[in-house]
Amino acid sequence: PYDGPSAAEIARKRAEYLSPSLFHFYSKPLNIVEGKRQYLYDEHGRRYLDAFAGIATVCCGHCHPDVVDAITAQARRLQHSTVLYLNHAIADFAEALASKLPGDLKVVFFTNSGTEANELAILMARLYTGSHDIISLRNSYHGNAAGTMGATAQKNWKFNVVQSGVHHAVNPDPYRGVFGSDAEKYARDVQEIIEFGTTGHVAGFISEAIQGVGGIVEVSPGYLPLAYEKVRKAGGLCIADEVQAGFARVGSHFWGFETHGVVPDIVTMAKGIGNGIPLGAVVTTPDIAQVLTRRCYFNTFGGNPLCTAGGLAVLKVLEKERLQENAFIVGSYLKDRLRGLQEKHEIIGDVRGTGFMLGVELVTDRQLKTPAKEEICNVMEHMKDMGVLVGKGGFYGNVFRITPPLCFSKEDADFFVEVMDIALSKL
Ligand code: PMP
Repeated sequence: PYDGPSAAEIARKRAEYLSPSLFHFYSKPLNIVEGKRQYLYDEHGRRYLDAFAGIATVCCGHCHPDVVDAITAQARRLQHSTVLYLNHAIADFAEALASKLPGDLKVVFFTNSGTEANELAILMARLYTGSHDIISLRNSYHGNAAGTMGATAQKNWKFNVVQSGVHHAVNPDPYRGVFGSDAEKYARDVQEIIEFGTTGHVAGFISEAIQGVGGIVEVSPGYLPLAYEKVRKAGGLCIADEVQAGFARVGSHFWGFETHGVVPDIVTMAKGIGNGIPLGAVVTTPDIAQVLTRRCYFNTFGGNPLCTAGGLAVLKVLEKERLQENAFIVGSYLKDRLRGLQEKHEIIGDVRGTGFMLGVELVTDRQLKTPAKEEICNVMEHMKDMGVLVGKGGFYGNVFRITPPLCFSKEDADFFVEVMDIALSKL
């Protein structure tokens, strides 16, 4: 049993000593004290089904014993920085990670977060091409440091950042986008940015395959191959941000970009890579990787033995437990069931996503697509009361983000849908 401080006590400390910008989803925030597989437990021992997994962070399940064992064994043996000496943990994980990527993508740079990974990717693209301009998509999220905050394109996440050389292309959003799912029209916008907004040469293009923070928006089928082609013609590199979609989450493939049939020049990852520990990575080709030899690129904790031992264990668990297959089978089943809910509840405007990266968009008017901002908060709160945690996002904050740990079962999916059904019925 938990004998730590109460939720009220923690809330008091948080209000006094932590950032005033921290937010939470519920009227009474939960005090989560333990996690196991797809479940989280509060201080009273109440169990919650976790359909958000710490923003798609936990992939093989909370506190998976294999990952915990790998981390603790490594912690007892050695914890230090990655540079200066040889250690097998970083090399073993880099090799295993490279084996999951197509083509010549096999040189790995480790970081501590997704932001750092994207900062590094953008830096490498700029160095490699000698150009400065980066094209990213409206409604994207790529991080919160100077460069990545510039590339991010939602006002909620942007401060007074110096947005040097960033151009935001029209979002190829099949539900709300101005061109529907017409990939060619959206790709034409990329071409026009290159022609009218740059010297004709660009450093690169960065995109998620499914926008996570942006509300589970799958970029229109056919768009990425066209955009990549135009960017490459302008001398740029194509960066796939796999921070949320990567690591088997989309089910049909290991990486989100694979669902679009493209091979990027640089792939960035974080979140799921470590199942909850701070770890990120950039993977690129040996040729592109050379640019960082021009100076010293140094990252004290990037790829430290503790995190890379954990990362290797994560890859092994994904394989051993066939979690990608589970994400595909249960994710497809869950999506079908959510589509069933859409037929019953007028407020569900759209159901989308792939595998265990699913979105349910609530609108008060299906024709006008008016965001149901308050309603979604009510539904979320009711679902929490019934023992289910789900995320939300999107530009208007009206999209449920369903990104459970990849061990989520068919029974969990049924329970999730029943609870959402009841909560929607209460509106
Ligand atoms: N890229 C994407 C697609 C993300 O969703 C996030 C985090 N929400 C980031 C990058 C930044 O990752 P981090 O918070 O680890 O810096």
